[in-house]
Amino acid sequence: MGIFDTVRFDPPRTCPNCGTTISEVQTKVFDPGLREYRVGDVIYGSPILSGVIREDLYCPGCAAMENSERRSVWFSIWHTLLVGVYDDPSEAEARLQTVDRAELLDYLARHQSAALTWHDRFSRLYGELQNLHDFQQRDENDEAKREDLRFFRIREILDADDPLGELISNNRPQNPEDETEVSRED
Ligand SMILES: [Zn+2]
Repeated sequence: MGIFDTVRFDPPRTCPNCGTTISEVQTKVFDPGLREYRVGDVIYGSPILSGVIREDLYCPGCAAMENSERRSVWFSIWHTLLVGVYDDPSEAEARLQTVDRAELLDYLARHQSAALTWHDRFSRLYGELQNLHDFQQRDENDEAKREDLRFFRIREILDADDPLGELISNNRPQNPEDETEVSRED
């Protein structure tokens, strides 16, 4: 298999042969690094600045029925930005002419919002870890430490049988995009 990237379809595509829902395609046409892309993402190591690139589309439904008909998708790349995924190369080509500023702004807003979400998650995790560590470093007989506001804020973690486990569980990914991250842990 080797290293590949994944392009996620949003919305998912339906296989024209068998009707199976296909939510992603794996590809090695970029600079593979196990990255996950959606329309609106800049492609790292795109072999072209702007244009159309073909990739085989694997359908698990067709594979199960041993239907070997080869299907493809075409990526539209505009200044290394993935602006669309199409079943037809001429549609993908046409897409390059229709990218407008409002769309670019939407992509930008989406990435900024995602960055904020990650920032908040990291800050919370870091803060709780720091407080737990500081609590554990304090003298066991230090009665005042319970009253410290920082420790009061993480009292549920401190009161658990396994504080670190409680902290990890408190910081589980919430947003749907991270479900794979959660299931991998289980
Ligand atoms: Zn199929």
